Amino acid sequence: MREFLDLSFAEVAALMASWGEPPFRAPQIWKWAWRHLGTAFADMTDLPRDLRARLGEAFTLAGPVPIAHQGDGEGTEKVLLSLRDRQAIEAVLIREDDRRTVCISTQVGCPGGCPFCATGKMGYVRDLTAGEIAAQVLHFARELRGAGERVTHVVVMGMGEPLLNYDATLQALRNLNDRRGFALGARRVTVSTVGVVPGIVRLAGEGLQVNLAVSLHAPDDALRRELVPLAERWPLADVLAAADRYASATGRRVSYEYVLLRGVNDRLDHARDLARLLRGRLAHVNLIPFNPAPGLPYEPPEPNTVDAFRRELVLHGVDATVRRSRGVAIQAGCGQLRGQRTEGALKQPS
Ligand code: SAH
Ligand code: SF4
Repeated sequence: MREFLDLSFAEVAALMASWGEPPFRAPQIWKWAWRHLGTAFADMTDLPRDLRARLGEAFTLAGPVPIAHQGDGEGTEKVLLSLRDRQAIEAVLIREDDRRTVCISTQVGCPGGCPFCATGKMGYVRDLTAGEIAAQVLHFARELRGAGERVTHVVVMGMGEPLLNYDATLQALRNLNDRRGFALGARRVTVSTVGVVPGIVRLAGEGLQVNLAVSLHAPDDALRRELVPLAERWPLADVLAAADRYASATGRRVSYEYVLLRGVNDRLDHARDLARLLRGRLAHVNLIPFNPAPGLPYEPPEPNTVDAFRRELVLHGVDATVRRSRGVAIQAGCGQLRGQRTEGALKQPS
C-alpha cells in the first residue's frame, strides 16, 4: 500500500484519469486530504462508495502514528511519531504570540555528524518520504484545529539535513504550499541547511519563495571543519557564493545560524571575523546558545558572552539576534531531537 500524502497533485490527477474518473475528482480528493485533513477515505462522503473503497485498497492516509506527546507548559509541544517501518521521528509545535510554528524532520538521524547535535550523534538511518515530512505539519494542524487555530509557519530544522533529502523535502513543501489544499505560503517556510552547496543552488532555481537559513558555526574553514564534518566537501567560500545566489534569485534575505559553544567559537575575534565574512551581504545572523543533550561534550556560553558576541557583530555592520530555543526542558530545542522518548518529561494527552 502506498502513502497518499507522497503523491503530488499531478500524480493524483493522472491516477484519477487512469481510473476513468472525471477531472473534478483530483481537486476533490486533494481537498479532503490537504484542507479537511482527512485520515480515512471512508470519510470522504461526497465520493462514490466504490471509489472510496478503491482508494482505501491502494493507499493509506493515516500517516505516522503519534506514540508520545510532551508539553513544556509554556506552549511548546513535541510529538514522537512512529513510521511504518517502526523508525521514529520528532516534530515540535512552538506557540509564540500569534505564530504557530511547526519544526519538522526530513531524515531519521542525519549524515551530517555535527558533534554538538543530538541527531548527528545518532548517525544516519534513512530519508523520510514526502508524505512523512508533510504529515508532521498535518499532525499539529489537526491538533490546532480543535482550538480554532492554524499552523502559520513551518521551519525545516528538525532531525536531518533537508538538502540531502532534496526531492522528498521539495515535494512536501510544494504539497503544503498548493492552494487547492493546505495553502501554506512559501514565505512562511524556512529551510535550514548545514551548507549543501548543490542543494542551495538547486533551491535557488525552484521559483519558490521559501526562506533559507545556512548553518555556519565558525568564521573560518579550519574551525568549521571541526564542527561541521560536511565542510570538508563544501568550504565557506562556496557556501556563501551559493547563498548569495539564493538571495539574488529570490530577493530573500538569507539567515546564518551560529551555535555558540563555550570556549570553542564564542570569542570576540570570532565575531569580528564572522562580521568581515558577511558584511555587505543581504544577511542576518541567528545566534543559538548551545542546547545540551545527553552525550554532547559542549557547554553554552554565559549570557553576557552571548550578548557581547551579538553586539560585536552589530558594531561591525551585521544584523544579529539571539534565538532563545523553546522547549529545551523537554529536549525539543534545536539540536536536541533524537527520535526517542525523553525521560522525566510529563506526558500529555494527545
Ligand atoms: N541539518 C540542518 C537543519 C537541522 S539542525 C542544519 O544543520 O542546518 C537546525 C539548527 O539547529 C542548525 O542551525 C543546527 O546547527 C542547530 N543545532 C544543532 N544542534 C544544536 C544544539 N545542541 N544546540 C543548539 N543548536 C543546535
Ligand atoms: Fe545534521 Fe544539522 Fe544536526 Fe549537523 S546540525 S548533524 S547537519 S541535523
